[in-house]
Amino acid sequence: MKHTTHIYLAAKGIEFLYEGLENLRYATTNRRAVSATRSKRRREGKVLQRMLMHYQDAISEASWAPDDILSDKSQYHTFKLFTDRDFPDSSAFAKEIHGGQYYRASGGGGLPYKVDHLARVISDMNKLRRYNDRCSMNQIMYQFLLISHYIVDAHVPMHCDLRDDPPSARDTTKPRNGNYYSDALHSEIEQIWEDAVKPVAIDEEIIKAKRKDDDRPAPSLSQQVQFNVTNDDHCDEIIPYVIPDNNLMQYMIDLCIQTKERALQLFPIDDPFNWNQQIFSTMTREIFARTIGNLITVWIWIWGER
Ligand SMILES: [Zn+2]
Repeated sequence: MKHTTHIYLAAKGIEFLYEGLENLRYATTNRRAVSATRSKRRREGKVLQRMLMHYQDAISEASWAPDDILSDKSQYHTFKLFTDRDFPDSSAFAKEIHGGQYYRASGGGGLPYKVDHLARVISDMNKLRRYNDRCSMNQIMYQFLLISHYIVDAHVPMHCDLRDDPPSARDTTKPRNGNYYSDALHSEIEQIWEDAVKPVAIDEEIIKAKRKDDDRPAPSLSQQVQFNVTNDDHCDEIIPYVIPDNNLMQYMIDLCIQTKERALQLFPIDDPFNWNQQIFSTMTREIFARTIGNLITVWIWIWGER
């Protein structure tokens, strides 16, 4: 995702933190969590929301820092999977196998590992703050906003799809009996989302206008990225989950697998360049809602009592 989209989604995660937790579900059964669990998480979420709002000024920098300050894009912002459907009989190229049929080639990015590790570091920082005051709430909230970047990226179809990374002529680590699409498509689609988000983010004063053409009228897709906490229907769309067995790494891997499945719909196996524009608008809404829900899922996992 691009800059404004990262800021916007982190801001929406904060906005829906309390109301979203009313919809808390169990990831394994997709049933609504029992009311005692929801009440407890909502109480914790209310405090976290207040904290994040207090430090919200850092959102613009922290949610974007992984792309331009840390620059760990190729290592940790992706989890490039392939399957027998897009690359038949190519399991020999798999360094890892997930969920039985999802392969990761070497150098395919370790997004779920990064989220798991960073989440545990933040949780430790919070314990140290209470024990000896070595970490400040300021630092901890910055990290909450920073980790949002990786969580958001896990929902981008191109980030979990090996076909986004065509091998160079000398690259022998990737299968060749399938169709790749080019990097240009990746940026093009992220730009469509950025253009849809920007007018909404400016209108809601989440960001300020900085460029001459920042007053461009909103495209029709803007409707699909709009979520307001005062709208009951929007609240129903935001669903955070209880992470099964507290296994955050597995939760993130499963999430990347869902994103890979979306990539297979968006970029048809036979002709991925000819991406599926018919489903794009509906899929955009689904991706944005899932992202906001999962920001809350991971944030409350870090913050809440375990
Ligand atoms: Zn990124």
